[in-house]
Amino acid sequence: MKPMIDILSLPLDELTRTMRNDYGKGLFHAEALYREVFKNGGNNIGNAPEFKGSPRLWTALEQTIHLSPGQVEKTIEEEGLVKFITELTDGLKIESVIIPMTRHNTLCVSSQVGCKMGCKFCQTARMGFKRSLSTSEIVGQVFNARHHLGYDIKNIVFMGMGEPFDNFDRVMTAVKILNSQKGCDIALRHMTISTCGVVPGIERLAQMNLPNIRLAISINGPDDATRSALMPVNRRWPLAELKKSLEAYPLPHRGVFLFEYILIKGVNDSMDHAQKLARFIHPLPVRLNLIPYNPVTGFDHQSPSDEQMHNFAQMLTDKRVFVIKRWSRGRSVSAGCGQLGKI
Ligand code: SF4
Repeated sequence: MKPMIDILSLPLDELTRTMRNDYGKGLFHAEALYREVFKNGGNNIGNAPEFKGSPRLWTALEQTIHLSPGQVEKTIEEEGLVKFITELTDGLKIESVIIPMTRHNTLCVSSQVGCKMGCKFCQTARMGFKRSLSTSEIVGQVFNARHHLGYDIKNIVFMGMGEPFDNFDRVMTAVKILNSQKGCDIALRHMTISTCGVVPGIERLAQMNLPNIRLAISINGPDDATRSALMPVNRRWPLAELKKSLEAYPLPHRGVFLFEYILIKGVNDSMDHAQKLARFIHPLPVRLNLIPYNPVTGFDHQSPSDEQMHNFAQMLTDKRVFVIKRWSRGRSVSAGCGQLGKI
């Protein structure tokens, strides 16, 4: 019996190697499999011209090809967002969120079940950490959004459950698979990896020569005391170390870092915080997303007023920081920033 071919976990070059070693075929058939699975949903592979004429090959492949995107258990739609819950083969569940944009849809993908990082404002952190997702479970979220739920997904953000750099190798393999023009064909510039500030992950990504992939950093505190109180990761890699890793990061020409800053009333939303944040950002090229805090159970704080948020943003704009104010969508379905995990 030949080994199983878990297509959702295999970059095209590995699939080609498998086809060569196990079936005496090569790129031609590997590309056909990729097309049938990633572009056409994988329901009719045997009828593709490359396999229809080779019934013996198809009979052999049929026994070994394995598609395991996980079972979409339910979808919840509100305020224009679609959150879907996937049951994995071991019964654990993950959440993903489809965010319709003006021209196409973005999918917010999970990389772990739960999270170790313990950010205070985050619902996922309250689940604790169960395990990291396999590559096929990460890619499977895109597969299901496209082929099970029928959404044309053109943007991926690794901002769902988990810290992507805590599952670095599998996330990067997923990026490679999703990027393949023969399959999902999602451009690197349409993929964003969001980290809470895991400096070794930033350094590893810097070495991968993928300049077009976008890097987002969840900041949320402009000084070590404020940030460490909200994000324990800051005790391990404080702001100065984080900044050093960003200064060394090979951004492309005109590239920017995406900074996320969740504004929490009375915690990190003062004018003093805004000034410190501007100082931390300078001279990095940054697009700063300001997001009002979405209340989660167990962290009893509130969003700032619109006026406070406006003043905070204005202070940064005056210091030449490029600011976008986001009025977080999806609160009622727990699909807003930091709210995944109430499964
Ligand atoms: S915000 Fe992100 S890194 Fe922090 S606990 Fe939540 S999922 Fe983990």
